[in-house]
Amino acid sequence: MNQEHDWKKLSLETKVVAAGRPTKESDGALNPPIALNSTFHAGGPIGYGRYGNETWSALEEAISVLEGGQTLIFSSGMGAISSVFSLLPEGSVIVAAHNGYQGTTTMLKKMNEVERLKVRFVDLADTDAVLAAIPGASMVYLESPTNPAIEVVDLPKIISASKANGCGVAVDNTLATPLIQNPLALGADISIHSVTKYLSGHSDIILGSVSTNDQALYGRLEQARRYGGAIAGPFEVWLALRGLRTFALRMQRSQENAMDLATRLSKDARISKVRYPGLATDRYHARAKSFMKGFGAMISFEVKATAAQIDLMCDSSKLITNATSLGGVESIWERRRRWATESQTIPENLIRFSVGIENVDDLWADIESAFAAAKIS
Ligand SMILES: *Cc1c(COP(=O)(O)O)cnc(C)c1O
Repeated sequence: MNQEHDWKKLSLETKVVAAGRPTKESDGALNPPIALNSTFHAGGPIGYGRYGNETWSALEEAISVLEGGQTLIFSSGMGAISSVFSLLPEGSVIVAAHNGYQGTTTMLKKMNEVERLKVRFVDLADTDAVLAAIPGASMVYLESPTNPAIEVVDLPKIISASKANGCGVAVDNTLATPLIQNPLALGADISIHSVTKYLSGHSDIILGSVSTNDQALYGRLEQARRYGGAIAGPFEVWLALRGLRTFALRMQRSQENAMDLATRLSKDARISKVRYPGLATDRYHARAKSFMKGFGAMISFEVKATAAQIDLMCDSSKLITNATSLGGVESIWERRRRWATESQTIPENLIRFSVGIENVDDLWADIESAFAAAKIS
């Protein structure tokens, strides 16, 4: 990989373009190849397709430059997260969100049931509750802002308290992204992404990543991937790297749109509550401003209507797609409680809105027409 840059001197907008390029040579390629090989000639450092390849290394370098650690790519965000949990001995105590990303919460509930892990489920936004749960835990598993409640967790305070208690900390950085916060710089041991979302940004692949500054931990995670087998397909990885080139631009635009739409939604009589930390009226605004470099592009809002009307509203928009997932160039929304696995603490009338990069007035017109189609006034 290209070692020419002094990454510390470059800004994120430049890093996403420059990182993960092959070494410069005459007629050498600007982009890494899609390494479609299950095996390699003997004698080299890789050896087998489950252990590594040039395409993975390129994306891993790029995410490492953004997150500030060493990175491993996994087959999915969940593959990354379960590999992290796989390092914990049987019966380890961990502190985690009771209403975080439903995939993680569901997995932890199942691990708790079979006593694989002992999970202390807490409200991550309630700092005192988290701090009280730390003593005796092996790991605090954080996510901020939380998905889909859009609650900002006091990462600096909780991370430093965890470290003071000798407790490991992992942060799911999917919603905030490295444009907005750097968990490793705040002292976390691990930063995780569903690369499926903002980093790749086009709703066309599923991938995950884990970054860490701890060499021993990196080695254990690499073994977990190697023998757990949650490995990424090279084509998906290549697409993710291609998507990452525009990550900063996409995120900036989505974030501007989100701020604008959250402001309009917050003044709208058809809506009872808007959850977006960029709003001065948001419960987490001051906390977000204290350590985040932006407010992201995820809005959740609660509509004064029945679940059936809201489902119809989500399905009536023409630009905004009624679908799950987030972080793509296209705007997507859904009523989260349509999923049986969603936390019961999430209101029935909550729409999670992943704001894309479209023209903001076009998006607002689409929202208005969806309200009208569902006869919400
Ligand atoms: C989507 C998501 C995941 C899971 O990632 P996949 O790539 O779908 O496996 C984990 N955490 C958060 C916050 C997510 O939004």
